[in-house]
Amino acid sequence: MTTTMETTMASNSRIKASVMKRLKTVKAAQHQALRVAGNGNPKYWKSQPTVGEQEIFAKFKAEVKDYYRAEQGFLCCYCSVFLHDDHSTFDAEHIIDKSNHSSIMFELSNLAAACRPCNRAKNRKQVIAAGVVAPPVPTKDTDYQIVHPHLDNWDDYLEFDEFDRIRAKNQSPKGAFTIRTCKIGGINAARLAIYFGKGRGKAEKSLQQFFRYKQKSKKHAHLDLLRKLARRGTKDARAIIKRLEQEV
Ligand SMILES: [Zn+2]
Repeated sequence: MTTTMETTMASNSRIKASVMKRLKTVKAAQHQALRVAGNGNPKYWKSQPTVGEQEIFAKFKAEVKDYYRAEQGFLCCYCSVFLHDDHSTFDAEHIIDKSNHSSIMFELSNLAAACRPCNRAKNRKQVIAAGVVAPPVPTKDTDYQIVHPHLDNWDDYLEFDEFDRIRAKNQSPKGAFTIRTCKIGGINAARLAIYFGKGRGKAEKSLQQFFRYKQKSKKHAHLDLLRKLARRGTKDARAIIKRLEQEV
């Protein structure tokens, strides 16, 4: 997991992004043609067969990225990391994955802006609630297990603690699901590891394991190692250990 990515704390509350209503650079008929071409063919997102289609697709993707990046306050819809103004550094994210739901791959209500690590970790995991069927794109917040970029306020389910770690607010199931699905534990590990000074590299690996494992014995084993590493770290590193001890 990356340790170099710039992080930006959401000092203002994060409210849901409004859904993009229409495209400015792509005509309605061209948008419809994208839907038809993508239906049953999720690979169409990665490569389009003709130059003309490539041009339309590029415009579509660029507009979606610009719109949702701005609408989300320049933050990843899941982990709130800052998204730079460079399209090659973040993704147009399919909230419901395109691999299993190619018919809604070009629906504006199913798109958002996400950082690469969240998008990769989430991949083709199921995010809709049990019994909910897509298509069409489900429209209620309760239709989703994940914190939805357009239907949920991020702050209602997730929060930063005093160490800049993302946690599920009031242990909310949606928040916990999002952390698990996007492997935000990896980002959290990188953030907490900063306080471990020279032991930072080892601490990050150990923290990743600590967040990943459910068994108490494994968590304790990593806490032992972190305790040793904390001796060379800052006062905050020791405060982090205390906090993690309470969470085992
Ligand atoms: Zn992210």
